[in-house]
Amino acid sequence: MTRNRATKIVATLGPASSTQTVIDALHQAGADLFRLNFSHGTYEDHAARLRLIRDIEARNGRPIGVLLDLQGPKLRIATFDTGRAELRADEAFVFDQNPAPGDSKRVCLPHPEIFAAAGIGDILLVNDGLLRFEVTDVSLTRIVTRVIVGGVISDRKGVNVPRVALPLPALTAKDRADLEFGLAQGVDWIALSFVQRPEDLHEARALIGARAKLIAKVEKPSAVERIEEIIDAADAIMVARGDLGVELPPETIPAIQKRIVRLCREAGKPVIVATQMLESMVNSASPTRAEASDVATAVYDGADAVMLSAESASGKYPIEAVSMMNRILEHTESDPSYRQLMHAVAPPGGADTTDAIGAAIRTITGVMPVCATVTYTTSGATALRVARERPVSPILSLTPNQAVARQLALSWGISSFEIDDAETAEDMISKASATAQVHGFMNAGKPILVAAGMPFGTPGSTNLLRVVWPTAL
Ligand code: PGA
Ligand code: MN
Repeated sequence: MTRNRATKIVATLGPASSTQTVIDALHQAGADLFRLNFSHGTYEDHAARLRLIRDIEARNGRPIGVLLDLQGPKLRIATFDTGRAELRADEAFVFDQNPAPGDSKRVCLPHPEIFAAAGIGDILLVNDGLLRFEVTDVSLTRIVTRVIVGGVISDRKGVNVPRVALPLPALTAKDRADLEFGLAQGVDWIALSFVQRPEDLHEARALIGARAKLIAKVEKPSAVERIEEIIDAADAIMVARGDLGVELPPETIPAIQKRIVRLCREAGKPVIVATQMLESMVNSASPTRAEASDVATAVYDGADAVMLSAESASGKYPIEAVSMMNRILEHTESDPSYRQLMHAVAPPGGADTTDAIGAAIRTITGVMPVCATVTYTTSGATALRVARERPVSPILSLTPNQAVARQLALSWGISSFEIDDAETAEDMISKASATAQVHGFMNAGKPILVAAGMPFGTPGSTNLLRVVWPTAL
């Protein structure tokens, strides 16, 4: 199964996508990676989905990336005596630490950190920002507020405190347990939610070690403020527009998205644009024109991947949502102005041998048509550097490391496969040609490019580029 596009699709699994038939159909329709969202579901649910993914992967012979999304320190209010209360603007409302059920005057907020950090004039948001409160008085046990935007408040709704950097741990006790569970099951990527500072990533990395790669979900203004350091500390970034758009005004999100995509492309690290991309497909078989345009914008910007959340996890049309996304990606990438627009965001090349070879690949693929660029990569670094240049032809990445093959499923333009390491340069050329042939990359009259490091097995030593014509095979 060869994909006809460079931008990747991440599909979240959930109640609407838990059977072998549906997951298989999502993969066939275009999902390159699956997200297991640990904010919902039981360990059995997640383990069963992962087993189904690995079965499908084994049958298709194409590595599939699996991303474990940790819930992170998501703040929530407690419950109400009747499950809900109606709040009116300008009235007073109190958040306290009294575990008794709430009413229209008060509710328990079981997070002492907020009481310690909040000040008069700060804003509290509840239920994805639908309800808005301004702090008028605060002590270590009570936050008195004035309701700015009222409405229905109900049990366990999420709370955001946008302007305050909270002294929260990067990983809760639940996250730590979920992390160990997921790593033992063999997930490829860990996504850390509500990252506030680079140290959060160092903390997660210390627990994960080399067992998986790490994604920073940018969904807090404090993460946007330190984005360069966060990109540096992570292996990939998710522009998590859902929570980000609660804490920051909607009009600021597009510019932030473009900036993060550009910085990640410069750094050569994969970037995922996430949330509400085809939101209306949760209930409808086709998207709005604005949603189609939103997906296309991420493609024109050269993002590595786009993501589906509720659309594939709990919506009525999970398979249709993936096929629609696939069609938007293919169509946008075939637009004659795609390359020009994508390269308008183009990063300046680096200055070492691998960068020089990457730049040469981009030049060659722009001058003459080639079937594919084959890279040999132990750590994945060479493949990422080639992908960073966004060459015209597909990148076929060969690695002896199964985890690396699965992780590279996230990267722009890369089709990755696991193979035995090559012994000699000749062996490498023949394995490259054979793999390109088997996976349908060969095309009469066009050469393949082979990029590798000699001697083999030394990460970061890319120093060889060869043009191989079919006649020479
Ligand atoms: P979530 O993260 O789906 O886990 O909330 C993505 C986002 O906030 O956009
Ligand atoms: Mn989120």
